[in-house]
Amino acid sequence: MGIRIYDSMKRTTVPFETRDPGKVSMYVCGPTVYNLIHIGNGRTFICFDLIHRYLEYRGYEVTYVRNYTDVDDKIIERAEVEKVPPDTIARKYTEAFEEDMRALGGEVPDLTVKATEHVAEMVAAITGLIGNGSAYATDEGDVWFSIESFDGYGKLSGRSIEDLRAGERVEPHAGKRHPLDFSLWKAAKEGEPSWESPWGPGRPGWHIECSVMSEKYLGMGFDLHGGGSDLIFPHHENEIAQAEGLHEGQTFVRHWLHSGMVQMEAEKMSKSLGNVVLARDVAERYGGEQTRYWALAGSYRSQPVFSEAALRDATQAYERWKTFLEASRHLLGERMPQGSWPRTRTDDEIAAAAGYVTRFIDAMDDDFNTAGGYAVVHDLVSEGNRILERAQSGGDEHIQNLIEIIDPFLELTGVLGFAFPSGTGDNGELVGGLLDFLLELREEARAGKAFDRADAIRDRLISLGVSIEDTAAGTRWRI
Ligand SMILES: [Zn+2]
Repeated sequence: MGIRIYDSMKRTTVPFETRDPGKVSMYVCGPTVYNLIHIGNGRTFICFDLIHRYLEYRGYEVTYVRNYTDVDDKIIERAEVEKVPPDTIARKYTEAFEEDMRALGGEVPDLTVKATEHVAEMVAAITGLIGNGSAYATDEGDVWFSIESFDGYGKLSGRSIEDLRAGERVEPHAGKRHPLDFSLWKAAKEGEPSWESPWGPGRPGWHIECSVMSEKYLGMGFDLHGGGSDLIFPHHENEIAQAEGLHEGQTFVRHWLHSGMVQMEAEKMSKSLGNVVLARDVAERYGGEQTRYWALAGSYRSQPVFSEAALRDATQAYERWKTFLEASRHLLGERMPQGSWPRTRTDDEIAAAAGYVTRFIDAMDDDFNTAGGYAVVHDLVSEGNRILERAQSGGDEHIQNLIEIIDPFLELTGVLGFAFPSGTGDNGELVGGLLDFLLELREEARAGKAFDRADAIRDRLISLGVSIEDTAAGTRWRI
């Protein structure tokens, strides 16, 4: 049946049809790099990371572009506070963002593009918009987009110009013709980063960077434009006006995708986390994959509640999957199948697949319904646990059944972006050293025939979640 997506512009679920068969061009609005990201931003990027992975899994050749807004009022303000140049702020928080994404299991897009490296293209686009009457420059050296020049203004948010005007608090500005006209070029103020332009030194507005960079790398009419639902107005509405204003008669984007906003349950949060919850604090406290589990537990369009209870529930559910995997690995030893990710499932392979894989694809094809996808993995783990129990008592057919269920487990959790690292956190080296030491003591106890002592050490470690395997080459442990 193929993938169906909820298109925010059409306000309904539609078949996912790409511009070029088998290929997907995808652009997602990235962060403004002036601070550490909030868990809400973190979730948005994890949702699109999932969509990217799933499209590749379904056999599409995906080109995924995400930007960094690395020149902006907020960056300049932050630079003043930290008393460093704005580009130092942008670099610092770009690195921090990339670190946070890694912690949450986010893959790096095919292209990450920076606004400051595309100013020439933006100047060219603005020149074109002035040339065809879509924009105007003022005596102050600013350039504004004239929203009245664009008939389709409001079509993404589904509101008229009058409605939008009533709903927005609009700052008056010298030389602006309509309250909703938005900035394409800002005249430089003393000490701010600036570039030369036909309108004097200045810097680009926020909206123009995304329409210019997405069009540069993906062309007009690319397949998917994504972002948080808070970007629908004005950012995405303005992107459409710019792109379609410049390329009259063409469509900017085939499908718009917007992720739901995280709801904060501040009063129930512990004081240590406070009201502003950073993605990295959450990942440190609960674990990166546990946080990712929470982020994807509902559909990307849902508005999940962020609370300690929700994170605890997610952690528990995630641990159920991980425990199953580790118990299987422990039992199977060298017979453990290797990870199935990355891999793709073409339509023919899906037709040939059965059981859990088919059910998972059916769920996920429905607008990337991860809640349904999770339910399939939970069913799989339930069956896996039953087999595991029987396999503990021996029997080759149970071992074979277990191997057969591990394979789809690795495939489906791989698509969802889980690697189940068996790491030991920041103190990994210390913990590893201590475990080796304890196992040496156990060896000594056994050599001295103090078997009670040796067994006590083993039992204690097992009760702490450390699995121990005696092999010809010595004793191995795994947390
Ligand atoms: Zn954008």
